[in-house]
Amino acid sequence: MPAVEDAISEERLAQYSAVQLVDIITRKLALQRVSFADMARLRRRLEEMEELQDQARVAVEKLSAAVDKLRAPALRLGTLLQKLGEDRALVCAGGTDYLCSVDPALAEGTLETGMRVLLNEAFAVTDAFAFDTNGPVVRVLELLADGRLRVGNETGISDLIVSRSSLLAKEKLKPGLDLRLDANQRVAVEIIGTGKRADRALSRVEPLPWSQIGGQQEAVQAIRDSIELPFLHAHLFRRFHHPVPKGFLLYGPPGCGKTLLGKATAHNLRLQIKAETGGDHPEFFLAVKGPEILNMWLGESERQVRDLFAQCREKAAEGHLAFLFIDEAESILGTRHAMRGGSNILSTLVPMFCTEMDGLEPLQNVVVILASNRADLIDPAILRPGRIDRKIRVRRPDKLAAQEIYRIYLTEDLPLAEPRNTLVGNITEAHYARSDANRFLDVTYRSGKHDYLYRGDLASGAIIAAIVERAKEYAIKRSIAAQTELPLTVQDLLDALGREYRENDLFPPGDITEDWLKLTDFDPGNVVRLAPYHAKEPDHDSGTI
Ligand code: ADP
Repeated sequence: MPAVEDAISEERLAQYSAVQLVDIITRKLALQRVSFADMARLRRRLEEMEELQDQARVAVEKLSAAVDKLRAPALRLGTLLQKLGEDRALVCAGGTDYLCSVDPALAEGTLETGMRVLLNEAFAVTDAFAFDTNGPVVRVLELLADGRLRVGNETGISDLIVSRSSLLAKEKLKPGLDLRLDANQRVAVEIIGTGKRADRALSRVEPLPWSQIGGQQEAVQAIRDSIELPFLHAHLFRRFHHPVPKGFLLYGPPGCGKTLLGKATAHNLRLQIKAETGGDHPEFFLAVKGPEILNMWLGESERQVRDLFAQCREKAAEGHLAFLFIDEAESILGTRHAMRGGSNILSTLVPMFCTEMDGLEPLQNVVVILASNRADLIDPAILRPGRIDRKIRVRRPDKLAAQEIYRIYLTEDLPLAEPRNTLVGNITEAHYARSDANRFLDVTYRSGKHDYLYRGDLASGAIIAAIVERAKEYAIKRSIAAQTELPLTVQDLLDALGREYRENDLFPPGDITEDWLKLTDFDPGNVVRLAPYHAKEPDHDSGTI
């Protein structure tokens, strides 16, 4: 207990607590020695303490507010599906729909269909954010009368019906367009661009008589037998219970007329039907390349295949003769073995294609034509009876066929330096000669044997067409230089022949054996090397790799 003094000195004051000060003053009071100075000091002490306490309270409040914030559960964001009257709204959050109250404090007009909204713990809408900027992209399949949209979703398994956000309410949409949905996949919020369907060339076929295809008599006959006859004599096929094919497979090397044959089938079938029955069914020729259908998205390729069939069926229902032509078909309809390094997307394409084929009624004006240069890779399920059970071979032109094709492109009405048949005869001889100049590929067999392939061995309709076009260019250039019309000569054709074999993009760019093998009928097991022949290559006879 401190000594009772007259007044506590400033130095001693620091040693006492407030309670001790009260005790000292109490004792002094008892002795009637109260000091006003002591009271003043006590008051100051109390004042300081109060101040400290205030500061501490503020600090504690701040801290506990921060702790509360950190502990509070996250608020949900949802997509506004529809505003309902009386401060209510339909909201989808996390895949579930909620009928929510809307905070009356939210300004009128803040909420728009498709916007992201903030939901509090009671799932009331308390704030609106802008439109979602992420979300899946889908393709419009159909516009429904009430403004909703049928879209193909990214899984391709089932289509979705979605509504338009207020951003798209007035947009002119059309099937084939790519749209982005909100994250809940209920509302379309943005136009991404035009999808592939709209780009695809859906062509009317230009008039293409069979005579415009050179040297493919066998293939043409097979096509006519399998397609024209059943179309023209449907009653006989029915009487004899003879199955009618729904399509056929054209197989053979590139540039030999598979696409041409497909188109000619469409054109000629239309003519035949018109001649026999008087009914005109305009042809609809939908041509796609297999690799175009492949898509990174799981299910998107399947959706595209279904879409192709749907388009053909739609057209057929309108009275068209619809042809679905799939080039490089092995890339989507190959066996699993064929899809080296492929993905499992492909494993579902074959069954899906089969289902679509099985759903086609024969002779209901949809014909499916597959083209491939690797028919051996096509999944056998595709080639079963009732699906694509006719395989038609499209061969490289031999000398005789080449003559026919040259004659198709060197028409009588062109300015020719010599009689047409002489030009055709000369260029064909030059093209097919087994001369040094025509050596084109070097082959080394597993047995060690060495051989050459000549230009004629790798000829195709496409190359012949290109040679003639190039020769015409030469004649035009000479005419321009001479300022008078000069006719096309054998030399023009010979020059073009050499140039085409060096530059034609039907040939692979490098000397990778595997690429070149695809152009030949060689069994890969028998050949160790197949590469372009280089005339000046030293020691090319040695058979070294
Ligand atoms: P594929 O589909 O077999 O790769 P295409 O039918 O696309 O070949 O042929 C490409 C082009 O080559 C045709 O547009 C045509 O100009 C020409 N062509 C190919 N084969 C023939 C042929 N047998 N007769 C006439 N032209 C042909």
